[in-house]
This record gives sequence, structure tokens and C-alpha cells, in this order.
Amino acid sequence: MLTDYHLHLRPDDLSATAADHFTQANAERYRTVAGERGIAELGVSEHVYRFHQALSVWQHPFWREQATDDLDGYCAFVREQTDLRLGIEADFVPGAEDRIANLLGERDFDYVVGSVHFIRDHAIDMDDYSVWGTGRSCEEIWSRYFQTLAEAAKSGLFDILAHPDLVKVWGSERPRPEGDLRRYYEPAVEAVAESGIAVEVSTAGLRKRAGELYPAPAFLEMCVEAGAAFALSSDAHRPAEVGADYEQAIELLEGSGVRELCVFERRERRLEPIGAAIA
Ligand SMILES: [Zn+2]
Ligand SMILES: [Zn+2]
Repeated sequence: MLTDYHLHLRPDDLSATAADHFTQANAERYRTVAGERGIAELGVSEHVYRFHQALSVWQHPFWREQATDDLDGYCAFVREQTDLRLGIEADFVPGAEDRIANLLGERDFDYVVGSVHFIRDHAIDMDDYSVWGTGRSCEEIWSRYFQTLAEAAKSGLFDILAHPDLVKVWGSERPRPEGDLRRYYEPAVEAVAESGIAVEVSTAGLRKRAGELYPAPAFLEMCVEAGAAFALSSDAHRPAEVGADYEQAIELLEGSGVRELCVFERRERRLEPIGAAIA
């Protein structure tokens, strides 16, 4: 069974309002593309920081600018007006674990996608508030990123660890450490093994400057060796991106000996065979 759990019903720009995108017609567009691509299990995971309730977790200026919508309105919309699984993409904010747990625990999500987009106050994948150009070396940024990812995994707050090597998002536009990158992956993979969190295989990296799947084959291989479970997603921000480039993701998974994917319901997880690849 193919899944696409990391979906956004709207693009990231602020002008993409909830009123325009949290509609039955829009959800139907995602469902239609999923159907065409043989994806049976579909869920949405809007960014937590677009909801004003997220300001109880973090007061970063980017979050303050983005927090315009009502989280409970989103949950009610997905549950009552769509047949999609109800998820959320929640950032890991070190030190705010209790507040994140409260925010998530008060709602009946099917799953929570945990992300690291920031190292402290600096963004990995945005030009605004960027960590790049702060004077830190790429070695330091990479090790801090994967240490934070390890903390996110071990926090127990999340079901799925999103885009695990997001730090490579800029491809050759930003410096990258030399040589075998496994030394950076190690703490995160250990945390995956210890926590049992599902590791996301995401095709979004193919649409970024990186031009690669998340995670890199070596990271995936280390996770397989550590006995990890996997979730498959596109991180689509528009209907046409649902299940985008899944052939490549499935090839990587199957080539690494992965035969099953995680399926979630009310934060319970089971494994289902991947099944036939898309024609
Ligand atoms: Zn993300
Ligand atoms: Zn996302």
C-alpha cells in the first residue's frame, strides 16, 4: 500500500489562505491525483506554525508572522469534510517539549510529522533568518542539525521524522562537509533506533536545489541496519506534487531491502507491504 502523509493543502506563501485551501474541492484535487498514482493512504500535515496556537510553543518572529489560522478549525475541517488522515507537521523546538506535547495531545491526530527546520533561531531551508552566512562552518551546521534531529527523534513527540537530511536542501549552493557523511548521520540514526520513530522517505528533495531524495542512500542504509520503519511522502504543497517521483523513492526503498511502509491511525502504527510499484 502506498502512502502520502506529508502533504500541505496550500503553498507556503502567506497569501495562500485557509479559507481558499481548506475546502472539500481542494482536498478532492489531492485525492484525485493520489488515485491516479495508486496511492491509497492519504493524509494532510499542515505546518503547525501557521496556527495561532503554535505561539504557545515558540515566539520566533517567523512564527509570529505566519500564525494566522485556527488549529481546531483545521482539525474539524479535515475530520468532518474530507476522507484524509489528520496529521500535522510540527517543528521540534528544543526546550519546548512540554508545550509541544500539550498542543499535540489536545487534538486527535492520526500522526505527527516531526521536523527540524531551525538550529536555535536560524533557519536551515529559508533565506530569511538563515543559518548560512552566520559565520558557522558547514561542519558545525551539519553536526548541530543532526544532533537536533536526534533530539527530535528521542523526544517521543512525533510519529514520523520528516526529511531527515534537510540540511542538504541547498545542494551545491551552500558548502557541504567533505568525505563520507555517515559521521554526521550517526547520532540521528542511533536516536531512530532507540526511539522507534518512523523515518520519512520524501521526494521533496528532488524538487529542491539538492535534487536528491531525503534521506541520502547511506542514511537510509544505516536506518535499515538499525531496524527502522519507514513512511513514504511527497511533501506536496499543490495537488500535482502528490506522489511525485515515487518511482525513485520506491526503487531506493526496495533496493535497500525495505518491503513495508508505516500506516497510521489515531497515532497507532502498523506496517503494510509496499505492494506493486506505480505503472
Ligand atoms: Zn518540512
Ligand atoms: Zn512539509
